[in-house]
Amino acid sequence: MARKFFIGGNWKCNGTTEEVKKIVATLNEAQVPPHDVVEVVVSPPFVFLPLVKSLLRPDFHVAAQNCWVKKGGAYTGEVSAEMLVNLGIPWVILGHSERRLILNESNEFVGDKVAYALAQGLKVIACVGETLEQRESGSTVNVVAAQTKAIAERVSNWANVVLAYEPVWAIGTGKVATPAQAQEVHSELRKWLHANTSSEVAATTRIIYGGSVNGANCKELAVQPDVDGFLVGGASLKPEFIDIIKSAQ
Ligand code: PGA
Repeated sequence: MARKFFIGGNWKCNGTTEEVKKIVATLNEAQVPPHDVVEVVVSPPFVFLPLVKSLLRPDFHVAAQNCWVKKGGAYTGEVSAEMLVNLGIPWVILGHSERRLILNESNEFVGDKVAYALAQGLKVIACVGETLEQRESGSTVNVVAAQTKAIAERVSNWANVVLAYEPVWAIGTGKVATPAQAQEVHSELRKWLHANTSSEVAATTRIIYGGSVNGANCKELAVQPDVDGFLVGGASLKPEFIDIIKSAQ
């Protein structure tokens, strides 16, 4: 079954109201392939979500960059999945390596978050990826499999999950994975899904690549058979994000 190409823009902790309005204006003017060819989702910081949602063209959607692991309550500083649903935010990014590594989110905690967010009706971009040390010690596949397992143990319906493979050594470094490196891990992840979930989940789940994707390197990555799109950080704040959207296969 064909998997619709997916382009996510992760704005991380960047932007002022004026900058956000400018990025949205650029996106709104862009000529891009139709939405049956590519699904585009941008992820501003929490505080800008309502603004971006109100200004953004209707064929693009918004994602939060995180949400709390369970129902809201006495959790100072957190934002619950219910609040995102209440605001009409359809997507959330969970398990980004910056949260796994800087904020010590474990595989199990990320798995719990994914399961809870899905149960509230959100769609989830779930991130996995190895560090440079793990790659160099030959444990890439084991690491991403363990991260995916913690999700698969808690989630039975993968229809609303996009899996983002983001090698930590490629994020924000300008050191993009080669098309062969990305394809290899994506293919291993799909095999893992086949063996541990179902052939249907393996065939239909989008596996997108993230880590120093830009307007120049996206095309050769996009043609890889198991690369179903991108999660873009730095370049999603720039007009070249449009070129990345246009790489949709
Ligand atoms: P980058 O970030 O494109 O700036 O490397 C990707 C990400 O962290 O999602």
